[in-house]
Amino acid sequence: MSPLSAESVRIQAKMALLETRMAAACARSGRSESEVTLMAVTKTHPVGTVEAAERLGLRLYGENRVQEAAAKRSEVTTDGRWELIGPLQSNKAKLALETFDRIQTIDRPKLVQLLDRLVGEGVARGSSPYPILLQVNAGDDPAKSGTTVEGAEALLECALAAKYLRVEGLMTIAPLSEDPAVAERCFFRLRALRDRLEGSHGVALPVLSMGMTDDLEAAIAAGSTLIRVGSALFGQR
Ligand SMILES: *Cc1c(COP(=O)(O)O)cnc(C)c1O
Repeated sequence: MSPLSAESVRIQAKMALLETRMAAACARSGRSESEVTLMAVTKTHPVGTVEAAERLGLRLYGENRVQEAAAKRSEVTTDGRWELIGPLQSNKAKLALETFDRIQTIDRPKLVQLLDRLVGEGVARGSSPYPILLQVNAGDDPAKSGTTVEGAEALLECALAAKYLRVEGLMTIAPLSEDPAVAERCFFRLRALRDRLEGSHGVALPVLSMGMTDDLEAAIAAGSTLIRVGSALFGQR
């Protein structure tokens, strides 16, 4: 193999620090490191950054804009997994299904029904049933999308009724705050909601997608299984 590019070397150094943070957070909460998956958030970064990340073995990417991701993914030759972590408008649903391996931001019944119909018609790369996460605004943040905690049950029921979709878990974004207790509360609330819904509906919702650069420790303490990290890997956007 050719030597690592300067960009790969830069990312590698950041990745080492990040892995130390993740390991410490897992140790503090008595969790195994294998329970927490790292997603590299490549939004706004060029294809070259994705390729530099691939060289380091990263294979899971998060993007928040459908068109940007579609363009990038068509240029990358390796076989990573790409997931949508930004809001999805109905008019981009088809392209989203064709671009992403999973959509994390399902926040309304209408979107569930639309995706179900499209997957049923054969739109979507990869697997049917198509995997989704339900986005919950567990921090009650007016600036964030996602169903309310109160609305999550109805959304789950709609998703469970969808023939061509498979709900794998919940996703949240914590409110921005100087006070770390705010993110912590949000993450524990999502965890409690997940536990409650699993019990009441007799389903497994194993994925808890929560935690980013600034709040991943709190998320891991609350049971996160997937952290979405951008700036700690690639620098400020
Ligand atoms: C941008 C983004 C991230 C990554 O944020 P960083 O603070 O850069 O780690 C994670 N999740 C979502 C939904 C995002 O939009």
